[in-house]
Amino acid sequence: FFVAFEGGDGAGKSTQSRLLGQWLTDQGYAVRHTREPGGTGLGRQVRELLLHGEDGSVSPRAEALLFAADRAHHVASVVRPALQGGGVVLTDRYLDSSVAYQGAARALGHDEVRKLSMWAVEGLVPDLTVLLDVSAREGRARRGEVHDRLEREADDFHDRVRQGFLDLAAREPERYLVLDASRPAAELAGQIQQRVAELLQL
Ligand code: C5P
Repeated sequence: FFVAFEGGDGAGKSTQSRLLGQWLTDQGYAVRHTREPGGTGLGRQVRELLLHGEDGSVSPRAEALLFAADRAHHVASVVRPALQGGGVVLTDRYLDSSVAYQGAARALGHDEVRKLSMWAVEGLVPDLTVLLDVSAREGRARRGEVHDRLEREADDFHDRVRQGFLDLAAREPERYLVLDASRPAAELAGQIQQRVAELLQL
């Protein structure tokens, strides 16, 4: 069972991933937490290049390919083996982040970026994608002072990211749970548990 947490910066993805992981562990599942970019050794180097490497001058296509390289390796070496071992995998970001950030916000196009990502992961799509929807302004307030190249983008960039995610959720409503990230963490966790319980028939 494979769940991806998606949403803009400061949406609370890692908090919700942790809470769901605790709950699933209590239910007796073997839970593997992971993240993109940076869920593997190679991925941490790619993450370093992406976030601190070129200081703003990485071309959008190079950026998209680096995220795709991180993802390909992550899926092959972490996600698929854990799923094949019968575990639950919870990832902080997955291919929808590329469609929203590189496809929508960097304007490379939804279809092309999705195709690239699907090729990278050999078609592995999550059973559930939790979208923590956050406005650009709120995300900025919640993540506080940040120094990453990508997080320093202006609000209109983050607005395009948000819209990119919402468009994805509208295309595939059955795969998504869209939640208002400004709600209290415990309330969000309860909604996520409810949906996961339905899917796992708990
Ligand atoms: O969520 P996390 O902090 O790990 O993401 C690292 C950075 O990479 C964030 O600033 C996010 O905005 C950016 N990112 C991106 N394109 C992606 C995934 C993440 O620009 N496909």
